[in-house]
Amino acid sequence: MSRMNDVYILDHFSEALAKGHIRPYYQPIFRSVTGQICCVEALARWLDPVYGILAPGEFITVLEEHDLIYALDMEILKQTCLFYREMNERGTPIPSFSVNLSRHDFRRRDLFERVSGCLEAYKVPVDAVKLEITESVMLEDVDAFRRIFQKFHNAGFSIWIDDFGSAYSSLNVLQNYEFDTMKFDMLFLKNFSVKSRQVLLSLINMAKNLNIHTLVEGVETEEQRVFLRSIGCEALQGYYYSKPLPSEELLSITAEKNGLLESLEDKNYWGRIGRLNVLSPSPLTDFDRTEKRNFISEDFQEKNIAPLALVECVQNRAYYVYVSDGYLKRVLNLGYDSIEALERVFNEKKSDQYLMLKNLILDAIGSDTVMELDYTNNDVYYTLGARCLARDRKRAMLALQLQIFDSENEVKTSKQMLQYGNALFSTYEIVTLVYPRLGASTRIYAADFIPSYDNVKAKTLKESIEKFCEAEIVPEDRERYLRFFNLETLGERIGSCPGGFIQDAFRLNRIKSAKGKWRNIRISRVPSDEEVVYIYTIQVVQEKEELMLDLMAKEHPEVLNRF
Ligand code: C2E
Ligand code: MG
Ligand code: MG
Repeated sequence: MSRMNDVYILDHFSEALAKGHIRPYYQPIFRSVTGQICCVEALARWLDPVYGILAPGEFITVLEEHDLIYALDMEILKQTCLFYREMNERGTPIPSFSVNLSRHDFRRRDLFERVSGCLEAYKVPVDAVKLEITESVMLEDVDAFRRIFQKFHNAGFSIWIDDFGSAYSSLNVLQNYEFDTMKFDMLFLKNFSVKSRQVLLSLINMAKNLNIHTLVEGVETEEQRVFLRSIGCEALQGYYYSKPLPSEELLSITAEKNGLLESLEDKNYWGRIGRLNVLSPSPLTDFDRTEKRNFISEDFQEKNIAPLALVECVQNRAYYVYVSDGYLKRVLNLGYDSIEALERVFNEKKSDQYLMLKNLILDAIGSDTVMELDYTNNDVYYTLGARCLARDRKRAMLALQLQIFDSENEVKTSKQMLQYGNALFSTYEIVTLVYPRLGASTRIYAADFIPSYDNVKAKTLKESIEKFCEAEIVPEDRERYLRFFNLETLGERIGSCPGGFIQDAFRLNRIKSAKGKWRNIRISRVPSDEEVVYIYTIQVVQEKEELMLDLMAKEHPEVLNRF
C-alpha cells in the first residue's frame, strides 16, 4: 500500500465514519454437526464512493498506526449490536456474534466500559458477544492483558483467540491466558496435506483437553469440511459456506431458509456436546473430566477415531448425527449397508436392536454416567457404551461407543472374556471377579445394561457393594443381600459350604425381557494359591422357580434368611 493511499484513508476516515461508509459485513460461522449458523463474525468494510469496497487489509494497519482503530472498532461493535437487536425484533435472532479487537484497543483505559456500555445501550446480552483477539497481540504485556481479560471474563464475555497458529509462539499464548474458543488460522488449510491434517487433529485434541471450543476459519472445500467435522471441530467458517455478507443479504438468506439460524436452546445444547473429544480413545469417560490428559492415541492414523457415534433421541426415535470412521467400519462389519440402514432397523419398534437398545438408552438418558451393554453374536463379543451428553425439554444427545472384541480387535479384556466362552455368558447376566484383600472387583461380563459399581465410582469395595444393593436390589431384599455379601464373614461362610460357594435368590429392580425379578446370585471361591478371588455371578431363574420363590417370600420368608 502506497503512502498516497494512506493519506487518502487518513483524510477520509472521519467523514467515512460519519457518513456510514464504514460498515460491518457478516460472515456466518456454522456448527459443523448441524450445519446451522451458530455465530456471525463482523468484518469491517469501507464502502468508498471513489474506490469502491475496501477490505480491512487496506486500512486497518494505517488506522492502527495513527491511533484511529479504536474508533473503527467501537463503530463496528455499535452497528453490530444494532443489527443484533434488529434481527431479534424481526423474530429471527442471531445466536451470537463476534467482533475483532485490535491490540491498540487494549491500551485504552475505558475499553471495558465502552464495550459493556454499548451492549447495555442496545440491550444485547453479554453471552451473545464474542471478542476476537489475534494471538500475536498477546505476546507483549502478559500481565496487563491477563487483567483486562479477567475483567471481561468475569462480566460474562467470551474471548476467542483469532488466527491461532499464525504466530511463532502460539503455545505460550495458551499457557498464559484463558480462552473460550480457539479459532485456527486458515493457514492450516492452505496446503491440505496429510501432515497439516495431523497438525490440525493434534491441535483440536489439545484444545478439547484444555476445555476450549474449536473453530477453523478459511474452510473452502467439501473435503475440508468433512475432515474437520470428523475430527470433532465444532464450528467452521469460510467461503465454502459463505463470504462475509452485507446485513441485507444475511437477512434475506436467513429469512428464506427456515431453521438456518441456531436457536438459543440449540446453542446451549450443542455448546455442551461440542466439548466431547472424539479423538480420545475413551471419549465417554473423558467427557466432563476435570483433570485432562493428552489422550491422543499414537496409532491414530491406522485406527482412526474411536468407534464413536452421536445419537439424538427425539420422541422415541433415534437419529445418528455423527459417526466416526471407526464406528462406521464396525457397523459395516456387522452386516449393515450404511448408517441409515442401521437407523431404520433401530427405529422399527419390533426389531431386536430396538428392544435391546431401548433400555440402555433410557438408562443413559436418566443418568450422568456411562451405561454399558455387552452381547455376543456369531462368536463376536460387543460392548456398547452410552453416555448422555446433553438433554433439554425436547431431546437428548447420546454418545455411543461400540467395541467389538474379536481376534482382529484385540483388547486386553477380550482375551480374558473369550476364555470363558460364549456358552457361559448366555446363562449369566453378570460375572464379576472380587478381590477382597485388594478391595477391588472387576466386572468381566454383563449381559444386561446394569451399570458397573466397581471401584471407579465407589471408593471401597464395601461401598460399591452397597451402591449396587441400593440401586439394583428391591428394598425388601436389601438387608438380606448385604448380609449375604458381608465381606467380613464371606470367607468363613464359603469355607463351610461343601461346594465352595454360597448362593441365594434375590429380586432385582430391573426386569430383563419377560423373565421376572428373581435372580440366583452366587459367590464362589476361585482356587488360587496367591490371592483370594471370588467369582460373583447373577443368573436368571426359571419360571417354575420364580413362582416358588414368590410363594416362599410371602409364606416362609425365614427360609430365605439362611445367611
Ligand atoms: P480475521 O478476523 O482473521 O478474518 C478472517 C478474514 O479471512 C476475513 O478477511 C475474511 O473475509 C477472510 N476469509 C473468510 N473466509 C475465507 C476463506 O474461506 N478463504 C479466504 N482466503 N479468506 C477468507 P477480511 O474481512 O479482509 O479481514 C482481514 C482481517 O482484518 C481480519 O482477519 C481481522 O483481523 C481484521 N479486521 C476485520 N475487521 C476488523 C475490525 O472491525 N476491527 C479490527 N480491529 N480488525 C478487523
Ligand atoms: Mg476474526
Ligand atoms: Mg482469523
